[in-house]
Amino acid sequence: MPELPEAEAARQRIEAGALNRTITGVFLGEVSHMSLPSADELAGFVGTQFTRTQRHGKYIFAGSKDGPWLHIHLGMAGSLRVVDTDETPPKYVRLSIAFEGGTQLLFRDPRKFGHIQLIEDVEAFIDGKGLGPDALQIGDNAFANRVGTTRGAIKSALLSQKKLAGVGNLWADEALYQTGIHPEARACDLPTGKIASLHGTMRDILGAVIDTGAVYSKLPEDWLIHNRKVGAACARCDGGEITVKKVGGRSSYHCPAHQMRND
Ligand SMILES: [Zn+2]
Repeated sequence: MPELPEAEAARQRIEAGALNRTITGVFLGEVSHMSLPSADELAGFVGTQFTRTQRHGKYIFAGSKDGPWLHIHLGMAGSLRVVDTDETPPKYVRLSIAFEGGTQLLFRDPRKFGHIQLIEDVEAFIDGKGLGPDALQIGDNAFANRVGTTRGAIKSALLSQKKLAGVGNLWADEALYQTGIHPEARACDLPTGKIASLHGTMRDILGAVIDTGAVYSKLPEDWLIHNRKVGAACARCDGGEITVKKVGGRSSYHCPAHQMRND
């Protein structure tokens, strides 16, 4: 499921391939049961250009100074890419935006959990959603205050989009695994040094995933992402085994041998 790094990689693809080009057409695919603007609403973009992009947490925006903005949420399995217009489009394209010069931006979503909205103001949209600071941008003090003081499980605190925006199940597990914190550890019981180290690790992980364009096979071998199965040998300690437990309703893969509840 796309989280911050996947959304950021998608934003960078828009930035690299779809800015400052005049839009020549906007086309909807098969979009039954999906939340997307109508063809008439989208037609308003024809003749205009996207001149900037923005991202907050898992939310991606493309638009221009005077608006409107297209807000794209990738949902469970959505993706964005820019391809040549004469290339055969893949299956499950829900929206394509054609640009002068023969390129198009494709929003592909096999599972249809993604959605797209027209919005006038990005900041107002973020406020309206009640999103916390972006997980890549949040400062040390804000992280300590928002995450480190939580009375509940640290894993649930990381997943709360109101505390910080962009971290989902996969990268929350990875950050806790690499920092050596048990997903059920009570956040407010953890030493401040441990919270600070979790913050640094989380930022490094998100950055590294973005650097690969969210291609997981390029990530280091000792990451949990390559090992998310019960009984797999832990790559971070001797004799540890990966196990899974529901924390805050989400399957949390971890190694009980080196991920501590409180130390
Ligand atoms: Zn281990």
